Amino acid sequence: MHRTVIVTGSTSGIGLAIAQAFANDGCNVMLNGFGVEHEIEDTRLLMEAESGTRVLYHPADMTKPDEIADLIKTTHEKLGSVDILVNNAGVQHVAPVEDFPPEKWDQIIAINLTSSFHTMRAAIPLMKAGGKGRIINIASAHGLVASPYKSAYVAAKHGIIGLTKSAALELAETGITVNAICPGYVLTSLVEKQIPDTAKARGISEDEVKNDVLLRLQATKEFVKVEDIAATAIFLASDAAKQITGTHISIDGGWTAQ
Ligand code: NAD
Repeated sequence: MHRTVIVTGSTSGIGLAIAQAFANDGCNVMLNGFGVEHEIEDTRLLMEAESGTRVLYHPADMTKPDEIADLIKTTHEKLGSVDILVNNAGVQHVAPVEDFPPEKWDQIIAINLTSSFHTMRAAIPLMKAGGKGRIINIASAHGLVASPYKSAYVAAKHGIIGLTKSAALELAETGITVNAICPGYVLTSLVEKQIPDTAKARGISEDEVKNDVLLRLQATKEFVKVEDIAATAIFLASDAAKQITGTHISIDGGWTAQ
């Protein structure tokens, strides 16, 4: 029987790559995230054609607990189970603490942290009933270390590491594992969008942001690729990873070794 995976924020970037990898690995997939309706539909149809599995889309907004509950319920009803949950949706805003708009703080904490509590509280009973499950939280190197001007993001990502550990302990004897992946910089729209703001906040050029800020601590001097993250998610969802729980895997080109 096909396993079912939900990937939040899978209409672009890392989430899309993870969803594609799971579909190609034989899983039914529930896509989620924002975007242009017909483009999402094209992606969905292409993934189904390439993988031969079922791929559906649910538009739940990760700031809305009711919509999140409906995402999990609909997945269970339409695809038969919830075996793997990937909490990936995330946004960023770059500004000094004293200039940080409070509504941006609330939005980032809601999407990057609280939404994972809501997906997990709805998915865990379904996983328990099935006697197994995998929860994979896409944290960040910023879940382990900080950078200036990213207070909300760093707070949310440190928070998701704590949520990961606590849930893993609660679920340790249930066959459900909970882990985080901590990527370094990946050139997705989330990173592309923060380059102009970072340049402004630091008074430097956009090229200097890429080379001197983003890749400064990434020891390999290369951006991480979305496929690198997807491959680790596939591994964490495999039987081989059943004793890995309550921890994180860094994919950051050596950033947090320093
Ligand atoms: P992205 O901007 O390409 O993708 C973000 C996804 O989240 C999109 O599908 C978007 O529609 C969705 N999303 C945003 N707000 C949402 C909401 N309210 N409800 C539902 N979906 C919403 O960014 P990405 O780089 O692929 O980021 C994915 C995850 O990886 C995030 O959690 C991010 O923090 C994390 N991450 C990214 C990097 C990086 O360098 N790109 C590094 C470390 C961690």
